[in-house]
Amino acid sequence: MQPMPKEYNFTEIERKWQQKWEEMGIYHYDWNDQKRVPYSIDTPPPYPSGELHMGNVLNWTYFDMVARYKRMQGFNVLFPQGWDCHGLGIEIQVEKARDIRKRDVPPDQFRAWCIELVEKYIAIMKEGILKMGASIDWTTEYKTMDPDYWRRTQLSFVLLHKKDYMYRGTHPVNWCPRDETAIADAEVDHIKKEGTLHYIRFQLEGSSEYLLIATSRPEFIPACVAVEVNPKDERYSKYIGRKIAVPLMNREVTIISEESVDPCFGTGVVQICTYGDKEDVKTVIKHKLPVIRLLTESGKISEAGCKYAGLYVNQARAAIVADLTAAGLLEKSEKIQQEVGVCDRCKAQVEILEVKQWFMKTMPLSEAVEKNANEIPWYPDYMKNRLIDWTRALDWDWVVSRQRLFATPIPVWYCNSCGEVIVAQESWVPIDPRMEKPRIDKCPKCGGIEFRGETDVLDTWMDSSITCAVHAGWPDRPDWKHLFPASVHPSGTDIIRTWAYYLMVRHLALFDERPFNSVLINGMVLGADGRKMSKSLKNYAAAPEVLNKNGADATRQWAAGGGATGSDIPYRAQDVEYGRRFLVKLWNAAGFTSNLLADYKPDAKADLDLQSLDKWIISKAENVTKKVTEAFEKCQFNIAIEEVRNFTWHVFCDYYVEAVKDRLYNPNPDLQGQAKKLAAQQTLYEILYRILQLLAPITPHVTEEIYQHMFAQNKEFESLQVSQWPKFNSALVDEQAEKNGDLLVAIIGEVRHDKAEKKLPLNAPIKNLIVYAANNENAKVISSAKGDITGTLKLASIQVLPEKSCEGRQVSSYDVHIKVEY
Ligand SMILES: [Zn+2]
Ligand SMILES: [Zn+2]
Repeated sequence: MQPMPKEYNFTEIERKWQQKWEEMGIYHYDWNDQKRVPYSIDTPPPYPSGELHMGNVLNWTYFDMVARYKRMQGFNVLFPQGWDCHGLGIEIQVEKARDIRKRDVPPDQFRAWCIELVEKYIAIMKEGILKMGASIDWTTEYKTMDPDYWRRTQLSFVLLHKKDYMYRGTHPVNWCPRDETAIADAEVDHIKKEGTLHYIRFQLEGSSEYLLIATSRPEFIPACVAVEVNPKDERYSKYIGRKIAVPLMNREVTIISEESVDPCFGTGVVQICTYGDKEDVKTVIKHKLPVIRLLTESGKISEAGCKYAGLYVNQARAAIVADLTAAGLLEKSEKIQQEVGVCDRCKAQVEILEVKQWFMKTMPLSEAVEKNANEIPWYPDYMKNRLIDWTRALDWDWVVSRQRLFATPIPVWYCNSCGEVIVAQESWVPIDPRMEKPRIDKCPKCGGIEFRGETDVLDTWMDSSITCAVHAGWPDRPDWKHLFPASVHPSGTDIIRTWAYYLMVRHLALFDERPFNSVLINGMVLGADGRKMSKSLKNYAAAPEVLNKNGADATRQWAAGGGATGSDIPYRAQDVEYGRRFLVKLWNAAGFTSNLLADYKPDAKADLDLQSLDKWIISKAENVTKKVTEAFEKCQFNIAIEEVRNFTWHVFCDYYVEAVKDRLYNPNPDLQGQAKKLAAQQTLYEILYRILQLLAPITPHVTEEIYQHMFAQNKEFESLQVSQWPKFNSALVDEQAEKNGDLLVAIIGEVRHDKAEKKLPLNAPIKNLIVYAANNENAKVISSAKGDITGTLKLASIQVLPEKSCEGRQVSSYDVHIKVEY
């Protein structure tokens, strides 16, 4: 056995093992293994943001603990890693960094800048993920911006088009005027802000009467196509069918009857504009109303806005309010709190525009999504409702086209003569229709030979919502179903409505099969003050700093133990520091143990004379093994770490290691003494090994280092990470032994209390300890463990008296008293 180095140098140890594990190749998924059951993790490909934050640390620690645990359980684990490169986020950063808009430079140049930025960001994040010690199989690394990945995204588009899931149509969509692109419901954030409610007079035709309409968006008056009232509302029902003048607009609309109007909201009279909000969209469809396209794609008022044409929405609002006031049509204005939808990338207020876009038919899949969500386990269970509620609330198909540049091209062309849509054939992809022609001679419909490539691109979620199939090897490996569905889909609470949902609909539509068989949810990381972590709130912790200062193993303990899985977890520096102190304790205990084991030869078959405390800790170790295993099975990482830390610190270090010193230091043991010594050595050895194994998924580096020093030679696993996870052995559970041991450590603890109260050092010698134990059984147990108690407490002598006494200190709730003589 190699002696352990004195100092615990985590920086060196962690870097060393990260390299060695890579060299050993132990994290490679074995594609040819037919024996082991595969276990595949649907690792999220993150958006490269140029910064590894504590949220990433939390996520990757979760994935990694699962991967390491499953590997030790004997599974052939696939832990892949990709990068979700495309998207508005990167485009906006390039625009900001270079102070341009996407149209200012040639598209190729703009894309090249995006790629450059993404590569830089990936390098930073990868370094962080490596530093955390994530056991990723880097041979699987992929980037969604690579043409080889386009191929998969485009193939899925082509296949879904064949299955009639993809269509092109003119429908209202959420529109970000700043980014000038359609966005999906999932990309709209809802925020509360102060607005103004204007009460505006709408004049009834041929009358001096008017109806009052309250609206926070007067700028939409030019797009008013109807006014609606509830037919049960006695104030207004008489006006249904009459004409009413649109203020400032020299035209009239009809007052229509609509039961969904809430008479108590506002004035009970509502203007329908195309489109002020989603309700307008519903009403327009239901009542077959005309559409006035008021906004342009850049968020300005169109020609339809007459004198307001060319103004931005805010300018138009001010102008219209001024004109209404001048015309005496504005009765009053009041401040209100309102909810508005904003673009989740750039925070611009989202508008609704009717434009021609590509859509994926998702509404018909809603039932299947709900059914599959219900059929699989979620950790924690209640999180499945997030997906189900989201699915139920959806009322529009998924708009998958974007008017951006840095994304996977939509593999489609249009015939210049007849407009026929030419979708790429499966063998054409990857292909960029912005640069390449369709591989056909002429239009199949009209024979035309000129085509226009689609310039719109795909939503980035179209890339990342096929990961379960892609990770499994689709479409290239004929045996990809071996790894499909993924064993676990890990997701954050913030992306259930996007990633989990899109994965479900894409895979259900493509393969008629759900993409994953379980879901593991992580919460968000909060600042120590419980608020959202942000630099401006001064509660921000930069992950690289935390990792450099404390090491991965300490930081991972925070991630594992910071809170229940799925709940939001505050980042508390003291949690990481506690984690580090624990590692130092473990390191020192291992070093001390290795000294005690200097002359020990592991022999699993030796007949051992196990003493009370040996049996006690062996039994407790089995129970801890059972609890930790159950916790890992249910992804309850906080329970796993607490169980094993408490056992290590408060059972192994505080009591057992101390108690067996006497047996081990015995310079000239007789035969009986030798047997007792061997029992202590073997127990120490195996219990420490058990601790290392139980900790291995959480703190892989320190456990590996100790394993290599003390156990590798005998246990013969190349790495602790590929050792067999300990199986709970009920035969070693011994309730009586645990009770006996608990009594002994309670006595030891009581003596320590006595010393502490007398302000004596813990190693102060004791002349004599008298233990009064009236109960005969207790007296026997104590007498048989005299040696261990003596050794632990440095007693010159110990007397066990089978009599009742109220002298001295009572030991816990036992009918046992002690008297300590110094
Ligand atoms: Zn935006
Ligand atoms: Zn044609």
